[in-house]
Amino acid sequence: MEKLLIIILNAVLISTVMCLADRVNNHIHISVKRSFCMHCGHILYWYDLIPILSAFLTHARCRYCHDTYGMHYAYFELVGMIVGTYLFSDTLAWISAYLLLFLALEDWHTKRIHADILIPYIIYLFIQSWGDPKILTACVVMIISLFLVYHRQAMGSGDIPVLLLITLTTSSQIFPLTLLVASISAVLYLVKHHVHRLPFVPFLYFGWLSMTLIEKIVTPLAL
Ligand SMILES: [Zn+2]
Repeated sequence: MEKLLIIILNAVLISTVMCLADRVNNHIHISVKRSFCMHCGHILYWYDLIPILSAFLTHARCRYCHDTYGMHYAYFELVGMIVGTYLFSDTLAWISAYLLLFLALEDWHTKRIHADILIPYIIYLFIQSWGDPKILTACVVMIISLFLVYHRQAMGSGDIPVLLLITLTTSSQIFPLTLLVASISAVLYLVKHHVHRLPFVPFLYFGWLSMTLIEKIVTPLAL
């Protein structure tokens, strides 16, 4: 029963995060209470909003104007629910996963992020990690990031809080691997799509999530 509640909680949370990101990316204020179809504007009822199930039952089409909103929502929610449930026992990784997902979606669509929402969480992580060598790593990351942002203009200022969060939620072995995975996947994307600039937060999120999951799967096997 407890497991079922955790699964439902994560299904609702992933759906909520995607809805919030959609609203922010489409310049719709998040205080608009009722969800509605982005195409026809019809108010959506509770049975239109059941995470994963509603999209499968309606073949990812609006029930009122029949415009398609894409099956990727359902697959995204399904994967997010499984990952969220898996990470639930590790509170910091769980919270970080949702925060980084929201910012990755925002960066992907608008190339800008509300990175300031991370500040209270980063302060908490700094206090919680005080005395740990990762504080030194975080300071080095911050100095290098400030140089890259303000002297070289090689990355956006919003990337700094994201990098600090990643530094403070990964071990000293996993952090460089996270950056490596993020950088390799970003370079592959640049080459494949023939572009010169890209939003980096989605790739940082991909690197962080994949390495966090691999660490959690591999560590018990190595014991
Ligand atoms: Zn519609």
